[in-house]
Amino acid sequence: MNPIFIVGHGLAGAILAHSLIDEGFKVYCTDAEIDHSASRVAAGLINPFIGPKLNIPQEFRDCIEANIIFFKKWEKLYGEKLFREETLLRVFSSEHQVIKWKELSDSSEYAKSFVSEKNLNQMGISGRWGAGETKSYRLDVGRFIEKSKQLLMSMDLWIEPREAEMSSKSKQTTIFAEGYNVANNSFFNWLPFAPAQGEILELQGPHFPAVSNGTWLLPHCDDKYLSGSTWKHTDLNSGPTLEGKSEIYRKLKFIPINQFREVDHFSGIRSGTKDRNPIIGRHPTHQNLFIFNGFGSRGSTTIKLSANHLINLLVRNVELPSHINLNRFMEYYRKISP
Ligand SMILES: Cc1cc2nc3c(=O)[nH]c(=O)nc-3n(C[C@H](O)[C@H](O)[C@H](O)COP(=O)(O)OP(=O)(O)OC[C@H]3O[C@@H](n4cnc5c(N)ncnc54)[C@H](O)[C@@H]3O)c2cc1C
Repeated sequence: MNPIFIVGHGLAGAILAHSLIDEGFKVYCTDAEIDHSASRVAAGLINPFIGPKLNIPQEFRDCIEANIIFFKKWEKLYGEKLFREETLLRVFSSEHQVIKWKELSDSSEYAKSFVSEKNLNQMGISGRWGAGETKSYRLDVGRFIEKSKQLLMSMDLWIEPREAEMSSKSKQTTIFAEGYNVANNSFFNWLPFAPAQGEILELQGPHFPAVSNGTWLLPHCDDKYLSGSTWKHTDLNSGPTLEGKSEIYRKLKFIPINQFREVDHFSGIRSGTKDRNPIIGRHPTHQNLFIFNGFGSRGSTTIKLSANHLINLLVRNVELPSHINLNRFMEYYRKISP
């Protein structure tokens, strides 16, 4: 098998690299440490219930299975547990959500018990509609990427960006996992990406559970917590901003925020897409070039299963599922190709 060259070592490039190595491929990775990349700030929350409607996303269970298999193997090999189950208190904002939760409790393993307003108040949380204990997961994105780079370097599979520029011009199979910087990739920037800037606060405070009412507070390390995040589709490179910070504080009024102290403030740019699904596949003309991108706000959930789908295409010639397949946007390519 010819080696595969991966451009971008965020969460997508890193998971893909190790998934390909597990399949027996030789891979080379590079990363130019572009400012504002998403994985450097990601909280790694894997939440089964998305948005105010508490919908469970497509393929959620398969995504979790794929992560569990991958990170169990990782733990066995390197002795580090980076993926774990975590109970998240979902504080409801309407009666509608309470009704939906009752339905979910009967049908979904991810909806655990209901928590009354009184019990929430005892924890210092306001929520007149109560909350639901959600079976969610957390991935330590920062540590995974750090360890992945160390391993690739120790295996001589890491290429510095300048050297990589030359390799990417050759005929070798190249997979671009560049996050929002796909906008500067002349092979793939015709695809309908919809990047969004997001901000996170790092706080320090008393013992507190993982909790969310749309804005979350998540235990991070020691007595530190991550909280966020915001959404902005303009001024992508502007963060972190005062507006972003104020917005998070405003939305955190449901917890005793005055007991927390600010430690840090970050921002990053999510590489979202027009239809909110990843974009994966082979370039329509340059058959050695592939894209692995568009993981939006849910990379920790979807990247591993998406990597499995891409490997199925590369190794077994199995067509990618239509909702993530680059082919669904061929009309955009026809518009720009002569
Ligand atoms: C504030 C915020 C909070 C988030 N929280 C969560 C969360 O709780 N749960 C969750 O699932 N997701 C979360 N996300 C989303 C998650 O971070 C992304 O889905 C995921 O990190 C995307 O990874 P990626 O590798 O595709 O992109 P990126 O992380 O952007 O990585 C791309 C990498 O490619 C490199 N690169 C780019 N271009 C080049 C080039 N030409 N040459 C070499 N290197 C290049 C960059 O330096 C970068 O390292 C959050 C995002 C933000 C912004």
